[in-house]
Amino acid sequence: MSLPKVGVSACIIGQQVRFDGGHKRSSYVDGQLSDVFDLRPLCPEVGAGMSTPRPTVHLREVGERVRMMDDKNGIDHTEAMQEFNRRAIPGLANLAGYIVCAKSPSCGMERVRVLNEARTGARRDGRGLFTEALMKAYPLLPVEEDGRLNDLALRENFITRVFVYQGYKRLLEGDTGEHELLQFHRRHKLMLMAHNQAIYRELGRYLAQSREQAIETRLAHYGEQLMSALAKPASRRAHTNVLQHIGGYFKRDLDKTERQHLHQTILAYRSGQLPLMAPMTLLNGLLQRFPKPYIAEQRYLTPHPERLALRYHL
Ligand code: SF4
Repeated sequence: MSLPKVGVSACIIGQQVRFDGGHKRSSYVDGQLSDVFDLRPLCPEVGAGMSTPRPTVHLREVGERVRMMDDKNGIDHTEAMQEFNRRAIPGLANLAGYIVCAKSPSCGMERVRVLNEARTGARRDGRGLFTEALMKAYPLLPVEEDGRLNDLALRENFITRVFVYQGYKRLLEGDTGEHELLQFHRRHKLMLMAHNQAIYRELGRYLAQSREQAIETRLAHYGEQLMSALAKPASRRAHTNVLQHIGGYFKRDLDKTERQHLHQTILAYRSGQLPLMAPMTLLNGLLQRFPKPYIAEQRYLTPHPERLALRYHL
């Protein structure tokens, strides 16, 4: 399988494109993630024609609109940035995810500072102009900030979403019919169950009742619901339910002692004494001994490359 193409703010992978001529390299993104993602760096400010180094810019309310200003020199960069967005964003349709630099008036995803018109105060609920346009153009695209990737649950969730979205995009690009869509759904059932029970049930009903609709319509609805379900990390409690559900498939294969061991391991995960990896390893071992095709094909068991060791810490 080819590596998912993931856009990244160029300064995060060490390119010296920041206003001060420096970078904001993240060793995790530039190190570990560059082994599992095909990273595509981009600096919107350089792309919009700004020099490096350059005067700082910020977002400021001007009338009803938010503009990107270099107030020191009285330059409004909004049009240049919008023009860059118009040129660059259509070419990003092949991406399966995007990692943006926090707080930047171009790249920040949330809580970016927006000065009021008089520059006497600021709100902190803005979004960088590039990322705003990117997320509008590709609403299902997984986007995350470099800083938030230090949170292990958000990190695991983002990486899971990238791999799922890559699979979903293949469905969109391929010669997909009823069979392929149902197969895809089947492989993602337990993952959906862990993330959002309501959407899991709704999608099951939808797929059964929408056979008359065009495949494009069904794929679009499916993708929206799928990515919406995965938007939040699965809770420990939800993982526990899914682990117990999987454990149920081995009930008849195990003797009392083994059943108890599995049960205790899942409970120890539930109470935070063990990481998710512990019951997962146990269940994968059982799967080797007692093959269950439906469980073996579940993406829930292998949502991302094992070498990232993401489930050792959850
Ligand atoms: S515009 Fe984005 S990529 Fe360029 S330096 Fe600023 S945060 Fe980094």
